[in-house]
This record gives sequence, structure tokens and C-alpha cells, in this order.
Amino acid sequence: MSRDQSDYDVIVIGAGAAGLTAAVAAADTGASVLVVEADVQTGGSSRLSGGHFYAAGTSVQCEAGVTEDSADAMFEHYMTFNQWMVEPSIVRRYCDLSAPTFEWLMARGVKFPAAMLYVSGVGNVPRGHQPEGGGQAVVLALEAQLASRGIDLVLATRVEHLICDDTGSVSGIETSDGLVSCGSVVVATGGFGANANLIAEHYPDAAKAGNWGWYIGSPMAQGDGLKLGQEVGAALDGHNKGLLLTTPGFSHDLEVLLPDWLILVNPEGRRFVNETAPYTVLGGLIQRQGGTVFAIFDEAIRAAAKRTPFFNAYWVDEVLAQKADEGTIIRAESIEALAEQTEIDSKALKGTLDRYNKDCGQGGDSVFFKKTQGAPQPIETAPFYAVEVRPAIICWTGTGLRVDAEVSVLGTDDQPIPGLFAAGETVGSLHGDRYIGGGGSFGPCIVFGKLAGENAAAYAAT
Ligand SMILES: Cc1cc2nc3c(=O)[nH]c(=O)nc-3n(C[C@H](O)[C@H](O)[C@H](O)COP(=O)(O)OP(=O)(O)OC[C@H]3O[C@@H](n4cnc5c(N)ncnc54)[C@H](O)[C@@H]3O)c2cc1C
Repeated sequence: MSRDQSDYDVIVIGAGAAGLTAAVAAADTGASVLVVEADVQTGGSSRLSGGHFYAAGTSVQCEAGVTEDSADAMFEHYMTFNQWMVEPSIVRRYCDLSAPTFEWLMARGVKFPAAMLYVSGVGNVPRGHQPEGGGQAVVLALEAQLASRGIDLVLATRVEHLICDDTGSVSGIETSDGLVSCGSVVVATGGFGANANLIAEHYPDAAKAGNWGWYIGSPMAQGDGLKLGQEVGAALDGHNKGLLLTTPGFSHDLEVLLPDWLILVNPEGRRFVNETAPYTVLGGLIQRQGGTVFAIFDEAIRAAAKRTPFFNAYWVDEVLAQKADEGTIIRAESIEALAEQTEIDSKALKGTLDRYNKDCGQGGDSVFFKKTQGAPQPIETAPFYAVEVRPAIICWTGTGLRVDAEVSVLGTDDQPIPGLFAAGETVGSLHGDRYIGGGGSFGPCIVFGKLAGENAAAYAAT
């Protein structure tokens, strides 16, 4: 780094969606800003993501005819959905700022077509705003703002430590190139999906998936922010939170949904869920069954399972046949034999299938109300198949630095650490046991990124 040590008001660590937003917002208040990025390019996991933004009360919703939504309604839904096991002040802040921050992002050149608005979670209000061009378009739009604001960006430089002054205020960073001082720091280093040790420590539900588990994001998601913060006394929040997608574990391909033609049974041989439940809740429901369940189908269904845009890696006729030949999928000539091989009680499994098949004959699932694309298909043609599925694909991690509603990082004494702010996936204080919906991670990155940038600049100015 070539700048003099005390040149910056604000240093932002990490140039993903949260960090870039923080940098632009801080510079907009007149602060001098340095962004330090470990990777050779900006974007982190944000660049790879869909970039969906969960927000209420936006102009895009209005354009799409959703005129009744509001921050109050979003808050109510968020809190109820999480059984009030999330911190209200943080959720409230996100809900209140979601629409104005969304409009701010659109004003910086990101397009969110009204036609792409969708119901992204559990519920019936469309709050999932999809950008044209995905997360990469958001990253590029934000990055394009840096030069005109005089924001310095240093790539390929990993921040190793935070520096505090005599008063305990965070006043700089240390990289392998040396020290740089500043008035305040925003930590925006993303999650820790790529760090197996931190997964084991902070996300046991994901660790349970063993070698089935893999992370869909950037290899730079090493959880550096947790260590940087903890070294200066920060507390962590959000143990065992995140989002896991369900997979039969054949390969490292990303398929978000399960096909509607299979049924899931727990170790007792009972169905426990609508198999087409939103991905935001399915993983958690499987965890409640102990983390291991079986998908059951038959030969007629297997033979008809052709590739579609949604299913082209796992749930395809020839892949299923190959996996059965290899022994990854259990194949049996009778339900009794299938039960024996899966160690499921035969009577229970048979009863479950009889009930399901009877429902199929009568037009639908009377127990879990699963809706299928075509007519519901009974599972009755030998051979029968069982394959274990686990919530194992890690989308984002939810343990991170504990913050207050101003995104000041809190110490283990629950007091703000002066000069230290955080935003994005490195923050641990927002998510409950269930993911609110598509855009529920990326949206807060922008919302709290902007707030962190503004507050860090204000702190530096004092
Ligand atoms: C494929 C994919 C699809 C997704 N789709 C969605 C979606 O549609 N909606 C949604 O809500 N969420 C989605 N998510 C999750 C969401 O995208 C992420 O939670 C979010 O983008 C994280 O943003 P961030 O800025 O916090 O971190 P990142 O974008 O990961 O940025 C962090 C940056 O910090 C850098 N860094 C790390 N350590 C250091 C260090 N010590 N020094 C300097 N730099 C460092 C990294 O290199 C990285 O560039 C998706 C994730 C993935 C991977």
C-alpha cells in the first residue's frame, strides 16, 4: 500500500456487495475511503449470487401491483416466521431501511424489472427483487461508483489484524504490506462457508452432512471477519445459523429443489413434509427428523424422470439408474426388501405408501397438500428405490459478529467497540432458525452495508 498511514477516514475490509456499498455510502458523506480486498477481483460470493433483494414497500412492488406491502408488514412476518427468536431492533432496522436502500441501489444503475418480482419465501407477498444480470451486475454497478468518488481500492491484499489506539478505538488495519491507519473500519469479509474448521465450530448442522457438504460461494469466504473482530474483543452471534439445500450427494451440482414425484420418509418410515416445500424451510424440517431421511420412488417414476432446467444433475433417469447400479441408491424388488435395506420399519413404510398411493388415485395429497406438475404418481411399480438425502449444500453462513441496530460491532461486554462497524454475511445478528426467503441475505448486505458506511464515516468525522 502506498498511501500514508493516516490518510483515510474509513477503511472497508472486503469488496463484496456489503463492502462496496459501505464504501460508496461513506464516500457520499465526504469521507476518504480505502477498500482492501483479499482476492484479485472484487465481488466475493456476491458476484456469484443471484443478487436477489428481499424488501417491502418498493417502487418495483408498486409497479407490479403490490401496493399494500410495508416495513411494518415485513417486520411482523419476519418476527412471526422466526417465532420472535431474533433480535427485534436489528430486524426492525432492516425492514425500515429495505425500501429506501433498495431505491438507492436502483439509483446507482441496478435494474430490478417488475416482471421478475416473486414470492421468494414462505408467505404470499412478493418481496424477492431480482436484478437483471444477478449479483455480478450489482457488484459491477457499485464498483463503477468507486473512481468518481475518489475511493481507493487495493486488491490481492488480505487484512490480517485490526489496530486499536490507546483509547481502545479501532484505528487501522495490518496487512502483510504493513499498517494503514484510519478513523474507523467496516468489516465486510463475508461468511465462512469455505472454511471447514469454522463450519465445524459454528455450524454443526452443516458439519453433520460430513463429506456431502460443499459451499456454493467464493473460496475466499474464510470467516476472516470473525477472527479480526474477536481479536479486538468482539462477541459472536447466530450460532448454527445459515442455509442448507437438500441433496442426494451424488456430485457438487447446485439443484435448489426436489422433484414433486418422490416422497420423503423419516427413519420411522413416515412422511413428514410436503416435498415441494420452499427450500428456505425444507432443510430445517429434515434436521428435525435427525438430519437423515430417504427419498422413495419407483421404476415407472425413475424411467420418466427426464432432464429439465430445474433437474439436470441428480433426479434424471439415467443418473438414477447409474447410482442404483453403483449401490448409492438402494434398489429392491419389494417394499419389504426396501424397508429391510434402509432399516426402516416395513409395516410403517408400507402403510405410508398405501396411504400416499390411495391419495394419488383420488387426485391429490390429502395430508401435506403437495401440488404436482402433472397428475400425482403412485409409487407401486417394482423395482422400488430409496436414496438418502441430506441438507448439505451450504449457501451462506449465519454466525458472525454481534452488532447493534447501528451495525456497531459489540464487544463481549455488550458495548460498541469504538470505530468498528460490520455489514454483510460477516454479521451474525439478523437471522433466525429459518431463512426468510430469497434475497434475505443479499438484501441485508446492501441495507447494512450502506448504514455501516454512513455510520463509520460519521464516527470518523468525530
Ligand atoms: C451462488 C450463490 C447464490 C446466492 N444467491 C443469493 C440470492 O439470490 N439472494 C440472497 O439473499 N443471497 C444469496 N446468496 C448469499 C449472498 O449472496 C451472500 O450472503 C452475500 O453476497 C455476501 O455478501 P458479502 O458482501 O457479505 O460477502 P462477499 O460477497 O463474499 O464479499 C466478501 C469479500 O471479502 C473479501 N475478504 C475476505 N476476507 C478478507 C480479508 N481478510 N481481507 C480483505 N478482504 C477479505 C472476500 O475476498 C470477498 O471479496 C447466494 C450466495 C451464493 C454463493
